[in-house]
Amino acid sequence: MTTPSNPAEIARETLKQLMSRRMAPSPDNYQAIYNEIAGISDSTAEGFPERELKALLLSLPKETPVQQRLSRQLDLSLKGKNWEDYRKTLVEFIKEHSAETELSWSDLLADFLRQWEAKQSNLTPARKRESLEHVLASASKNSELFYARLQSLIKSWALNSADSDAMTRVEGAIDPSPEALVPEALASGTSTAAASRASELLPELRNLFAYTLEVVVATQLDDEPELATQAKTLATAVRNAATLKTMDELLADVKRFAFRLEFLAEDRNELRSGLLKLLQLMIENVSELVVDDRWVNGQIEMVREIVARPLNLRAIKDAEHRLKEVIFKQGQLKHSLIEAKEALKHMLAGFVDHLAEFADSTSDYHDKIEICVEKISKAEDITQLEDVLAEVIRETRIIQINAQRSRDDLRTSKQRVEDADKRINELQGELDKASMLVRNDQLTGTLNRRGLEEAFGHEVGRAQRRKSALCVAMLDIDNFKKLNDSLGHDAGDAALIHLVTVIRDTLRPQDTLARFGGEEFIILLPETPLEDAKKAIVRLQRELTTRFFLHDNEKVLITFSAGLTSFQRDDTQASVTKRADEAMYAAKKAGKNRVIVG
Ligand code: GH3
Ligand code: MG
Ligand code: MG
Repeated sequence: MTTPSNPAEIARETLKQLMSRRMAPSPDNYQAIYNEIAGISDSTAEGFPERELKALLLSLPKETPVQQRLSRQLDLSLKGKNWEDYRKTLVEFIKEHSAETELSWSDLLADFLRQWEAKQSNLTPARKRESLEHVLASASKNSELFYARLQSLIKSWALNSADSDAMTRVEGAIDPSPEALVPEALASGTSTAAASRASELLPELRNLFAYTLEVVVATQLDDEPELATQAKTLATAVRNAATLKTMDELLADVKRFAFRLEFLAEDRNELRSGLLKLLQLMIENVSELVVDDRWVNGQIEMVREIVARPLNLRAIKDAEHRLKEVIFKQGQLKHSLIEAKEALKHMLAGFVDHLAEFADSTSDYHDKIEICVEKISKAEDITQLEDVLAEVIRETRIIQINAQRSRDDLRTSKQRVEDADKRINELQGELDKASMLVRNDQLTGTLNRRGLEEAFGHEVGRAQRRKSALCVAMLDIDNFKKLNDSLGHDAGDAALIHLVTVIRDTLRPQDTLARFGGEEFIILLPETPLEDAKKAIVRLQRELTTRFFLHDNEKVLITFSAGLTSFQRDDTQASVTKRADEAMYAAKKAGKNRVIVG
């Protein structure tokens, strides 16, 4: 091999080498082989002995699972500079390798003769000869390969059980027709049942593999159309591969494809953590900006909590429901708040106008009185005085009426300003509360009805897509009114919270719990057959008998009655809820504290 010179060629060769040496496409391995091909000695890497040992490790064969395991162990010892371990593992590797490579021809030939002469059902001498000729044709030029294939062939003749490892070796070694592989491989006389089971399994496995590629893998590759097409092409090839040659080619293609998927997975992981970091930064930034808006802080806090932990689809969905609710509520509140503030502004403006008007009219009054005073001083007879006096009285009355009206106006304005201010404070308080709702979801923290509706839609869609069972349970606490009456409403509230805690601890994370009404809850159990759902609800009842609700240090037993049903094809949310509700009532009628399937 000539040494490639440009980076693209080196990179291509590196990938080829990674594949042919069957090494994981990790950045370390990639770098090491790249450097090896490019003839670069990495100055940042380890010192001389480590580097050489790593190079040695890279050139070791990694064909068998044992060799792969030992190579990994060597790599770990090297990284941890655990020389004692390294030495031991290397010795083990050498032993293993020499055992693998030691070709004991005499033993093999003795085995061959034994099996050649032995009688195997489903295996005629002609069939045996055909297989042998195939091995000869395919591997006789390479003694190691020939040894391995002949060994596999003999094993396949001798095989008594459907050992999968043996089956894959046999597949690689002998008969060109896939249909013939299994019966021949396993038909060693005694184990025809195993052989027929295996012959059923192989096509099934092939179909499953094709399905995995075509549906499972391809649907994950929406944003990589080229890879998605490749997955589908491979699936077709898997279904159609009929000869050993096409299978060999297919194997190489699948390996290459798997490699690309591994790279893609790494890219996607990086992308996801990048996006998360970005989101975290934004959250930090927004919370800096809105320190004063307490009601926004609650929401930010919730998103921050979600991002800080490993991503969990349920937590995200839950947060989405709650945020939607709060956004809706805030929309309404903010609208009212803006209106109230506008009204306040108007009133204040009116107030100022009144004051100005009043000041104007009083100064007008002063002017007029001054004129009157002058007229009085100049008056020569009583009639003239009477006129002036009448004018004074008129002006005074006007100003009096004006003053009174202004005082009344001002009083009403003041009242209205106070009312508006109060309303603004109330709205502000409600906004704060709405934000609290985001985190606490009122009393129990479960989904409420609106949340349930969305969760229902989601689960029904999923159940229909996957054709899986979805169960719905309606729970109603027994004699809850009595508990409220005897222990008080607060104790009733605490009992509801206790029940929710026990349900959450007992059921699976994918189950959805919602508060349907006062002391009624709905549980959605996805991918659960009815019998299993019943077991889960009964387990919940049992759990409640061991985890008592404590009130003033007294143990209080809480029980519930439940109606359980499974979602049918033509059900709606309403119809299935109704059925669960009826079953729950039947449970009440039958004596409470039980589960009835409806
Ligand atoms: P049954 O066994 O037949 O279900 O009887 P019950 O007493 O549980 O049922 P009923 O429907 O007669 O009473 C339900 C009570 O639940 C009435 C109501 O005061 C109480 N409740 C509803 N919501 C709450 C709540 O949020 N907190 C408290 N403490 N009590 C609530
Ligand atoms: Mg009830
Ligand atoms: Mg009740």
